[in-house]
Amino acid sequence: MNNDRACALCNLDVGTKPFVLHGADRDYQFCCEGCRGIYQMLHDIKDTAVHNDQTENQKQ
Ligand SMILES: [Zn+2]
Repeated sequence: MNNDRACALCNLDVGTKPFVLHGADRDYQFCCEGCRGIYQMLHDIKDTAVHNDQTENQKQ
C-alpha cells in the first residue's frame, strides 16, 4: 500500500491539491485546512513556509 497521499491526521486521501504543512524536518499533507490546523496545534509545528499562492490576492 502506498500512503503517500494520506492525510497525516485522519488518513483520508488528500486528493490532487493537498493542504501542506512544512515542518522542520519534513512536510505533512492533509485533506482539508481543518486537519492541517489541528495537527499543527497538536504537534506545535511552526509553518515557516510562505504561501504565495494564497496571500497574493488577500493583500493590497
Ligand atoms: Zn484529514
